[in-house]
Amino acid sequence: MKVRIDIQSGFCFGVVYAINKAESILREQGHLYVLGDIVHNEQEVKRLTEMGLEVIDHEKLKQLKDTQVLIRAHGEPTETYKIAYENNIKLIDASCPVVLRLQNQIRQVYLDMKEQGGQVVIFGKPNHPEVIGLRSQTNYEAIVIQGLDDLDNIDFTRPVALFAQTTKNLKLFYQIVSEIGKRMKIALGKEQVPFKYYDTICRQVSHRDRELQTFCKDKDVVLFVSGKKSSNGKMLYGVCKQVNPNTYFISSPEEIDFSWFRPDDTVGICGATSTPQWLMQKVKDYLAQKFEIE
Ligand code: SF4
Repeated sequence: MKVRIDIQSGFCFGVVYAINKAESILREQGHLYVLGDIVHNEQEVKRLTEMGLEVIDHEKLKQLKDTQVLIRAHGEPTETYKIAYENNIKLIDASCPVVLRLQNQIRQVYLDMKEQGGQVVIFGKPNHPEVIGLRSQTNYEAIVIQGLDDLDNIDFTRPVALFAQTTKNLKLFYQIVSEIGKRMKIALGKEQVPFKYYDTICRQVSHRDRELQTFCKDKDVVLFVSGKKSSNGKMLYGVCKQVNPNTYFISSPEEIDFSWFRPDDTVGICGATSTPQWLMQKVKDYLAQKFEIE
């Protein structure tokens, strides 16, 4: 059996930045709170928990005082900064710089839209932490759409500013752009109101599609390794499955069913932007227990 690990798969720089920050504090101090899972990968969270990382939620944050808390790559809503200030909590802000820039941009555009009587629209998942953080910049007035089916929530006679959660699908984003443009034309006839869209999809993610398609297409079986909570993982798994129907989603080596393989298969191991390389290596090692691999 030939087994190939996709070297492009693995953490994006936003996640690497947050993990490095956590690790360096943990090495020095042995304990650190983090608000929410630092990465949507149970295995990596477990590894860091063993080093002393303690995952807390927003309720727990309210009860803490005089301590320090790490903010993960997704960023946080404005209330978190307020609570931290009131409770003398030092925030170690490991929000991804791309997300922070987007938060600032959306705030600016929201203020402009308010003057123009327009709407901010976010293409994303309503409960995703990044989207919650972005909406907080608009006083939670931004409309969240998950796809073309939600477009009826937009008033096409008023200006629209469209943004995207950084991990969303690029193709669908541009379909939404085109559909909003069409519907605004229909709603307004010759009259025009501004429609601006901001392609805020992170290329660390959107380029992964193409790289994964190339990686998956010549493999007999593909093991896609990702945490079950990762939206990026679900999306990229879909990309792999489309190119190669023999793609299996696993979160740990133990989920592998050896009946998926023939001894002379070429197997590809890849993953999401939240999948650690060490975990993909573990999957390869697990296969080596059963098959002779090269
Ligand atoms: S996917 Fe992009 S925006 Fe999101 S954390 Fe990673 S680098 Fe940052």
